[in-house]
Amino acid sequence: MNVRVNSQLANLDESATLVINQRVKDLRAQGHSIVHFGFGQSPFQIHHSIQEALCKNADKKSYLPTKGLPELRETLARFIKKHFGYDYLPENILIGPGSKQLLYQATAVLEGPFILPAPSWVSYGPQAEILGKHILTIQTKKENSYKLTAHELDNICSSIDHRQKILMMNSPNNPTGTVYRKSELQDLASVCREHSVMVLSDEIYAHLSFDGVSPGGMAEFYPEGTLVSGGLSKAFHAGGYRLGFLAAPVGMEEAVRCMAVMSSETYTSVSAPIQYAAIEAFTNPAVTEYARACGQIHRATSHYLFERFKEMRLSCVEPEGAFYLFPDFEHYRSLLSKAAVRNSKQLSKKLLDTYGVATLPAGAFYCSNEMLACRVATVDYDGARVYEAFERARKLDKDFVLGKDFVEEHCPQLKLGVERIRQFLLDLEG
Ligand code: PMP
Repeated sequence: MNVRVNSQLANLDESATLVINQRVKDLRAQGHSIVHFGFGQSPFQIHHSIQEALCKNADKKSYLPTKGLPELRETLARFIKKHFGYDYLPENILIGPGSKQLLYQATAVLEGPFILPAPSWVSYGPQAEILGKHILTIQTKKENSYKLTAHELDNICSSIDHRQKILMMNSPNNPTGTVYRKSELQDLASVCREHSVMVLSDEIYAHLSFDGVSPGGMAEFYPEGTLVSGGLSKAFHAGGYRLGFLAAPVGMEEAVRCMAVMSSETYTSVSAPIQYAAIEAFTNPAVTEYARACGQIHRATSHYLFERFKEMRLSCVEPEGAFYLFPDFEHYRSLLSKAAVRNSKQLSKKLLDTYGVATLPAGAFYCSNEMLACRVATVDYDGARVYEAFERARKLDKDFVLGKDFVEEHCPQLKLGVERIRQFLLDLEG
């Protein structure tokens, strides 16, 4: 039968991160040795207290309110205030099956063109495309650590004849690992105020800022126009639990109502036992402490890869949070061209097919495909064992510093990935 599908969707592919993850699984199942720099999932175990809370609440079988369990929303309002200093009312906080879904709903509900600083996480753009939004991409510059500047934002806003605009922000950032400074946020906030920009601030990596303190976000400087999202997936290691939140400021009650309508007409509410278990995640200080300790391991692995890439003349902004790097291979452009590698897709394909290293091409992040860069996720190791080794080392020496030796001993896949990329570059040089 000849089925016609919605043209908005026909042009889109399945999310690049999920595709590469499946590809690596398939290749490994066929016996290939693959270094998985392609997928960003926390490698650590879920804190035992959250698992216990989940078991204890296995009997919670009723549908919960569409906006989420009231106790969880109150807990989140306190958690957000305590850790980030933002004031959001529980009634303006929504719980959803992952922050990805809630960002989609927010993009659907808020009117206006969608401003997307690139490189950007793989799903913001496709979500806006599915919704038929007018997308305005701003290619940020490497010399600005791939961060959007107030000047760039002002330029694009001045060129749009539309009262309200949506700006997508993400700090700490996937794919670059950069974190916005307070002064940068302050400058962006004044442009947002001047041009009626609603900010969607994706702070899913908030506890994974390497200096150990809250990095600050747009809500600090532009509270009236910033919606913040986060959840259990990254710092709490529970991506498969599928629980995220989105908080909207006072004055945006109508937007919150519309998002709740969307939830009520689609998934209804997030699984009840998971919502009860999430209360533990956002109240138990041991859980946040554990998140911070895991953050130190992310810092060490990111720093390890950053230093190795620098030695290989791959230009890369030093990550300050999350678990990604975004190296570019510009230094090797002419040699790559001789090897028929002329764009980011070909680069990632070559790395995977010939050297067994899975990465995601720059093109997947709304950058030009001509850019010879890719995203490297730093999490191909056994998180439980690495965490144990870190604990043991800390017990022996309370000032223990995670360094190169620790990473090479306990995260051998990262070392192997580095060796394979080095070999690729040596082969290019002949
Ligand atoms: N934002 C970013 C930047 C992400 O990297 C991810 C997950 N890869 C998400 C949002 C989605 O997270 P969730 O599991 O809460 O849907």
